[in-house]
Amino acid sequence: MRKDVNVCLFDPARKYFQIVLELENVPGALKSAMEVIHGLDLNILGSFTSADSAARVGVWSGFVEDGEYTAQDLKRKLGASPAVHDAIVMESNNGFLVDSVHFPVAFNNGTRAIMMGAGAAANMLSTMNERFGTGGNVILHEEGKTYGRELGREYLLRLGADFIMANLEDVVKLYQALGWFRVEGAKAAPGWERVSVRAADSFECAGVEAKVPHSHFVRGHLEGMLTVWLGKPMECREALCIAKGDEVCEFTLTPRAP
Ligand SMILES: [Zn+2]
Repeated sequence: MRKDVNVCLFDPARKYFQIVLELENVPGALKSAMEVIHGLDLNILGSFTSADSAARVGVWSGFVEDGEYTAQDLKRKLGASPAVHDAIVMESNNGFLVDSVHFPVAFNNGTRAIMMGAGAAANMLSTMNERFGTGGNVILHEEGKTYGRELGREYLLRLGADFIMANLEDVVKLYQALGWFRVEGAKAAPGWERVSVRAADSFECAGVEAKVPHSHFVRGHLEGMLTVWLGKPMECREALCIAKGDEVCEFTLTPRAP
């Protein structure tokens, strides 16, 4: 199932609103706010909720469509709900609505994130190979390792090595949650002498036609991450690759020869 993130909408024939409700973080607050929205008969096009238990506030934010109300109407009606601390309502301009309320974008652990199109990111990476050949691949691999080590350290601190080792296939699904690839399996041989990860529809290789395995950034990322998790230098090879017609990209990690 796809995960949609509201960024912008455009249709000159329609009127959209972005509604951001700051709610009391107590049971029933969201239900009560949703009842108000339901009562207004708004067409919800996409939404998200977030909660800050320390600050005892929650947020519901959505893109909605409606031809009848003004932003002031909606703000007044939504603000009347006792569960709503504050209501921000932004109206589209000639059918164009962009999220101008939320910044920064963050993962649900609070780490700041940026979003970019997967195709554009893949083209950026491919350009390194097109311009600099195998030297470009080495750079991509190093960039991947740098990011992989950083993310690996973050999750090592949060989960601990024992948990990661015992639940590798679940933990590797991080890549899927981030939209990089779908995890078709992750296996480790006894003693962690060999770890394999099967990746379907990897953003780096999707839509590419190549005679040799194409992944350098993701391959480096897995290498950096597993090196941190296992506490010993690992090396990652991509044997199967969708760019050369295989069903999945298959990454195999083994300890780096001394
Ligand atoms: Zn591949």
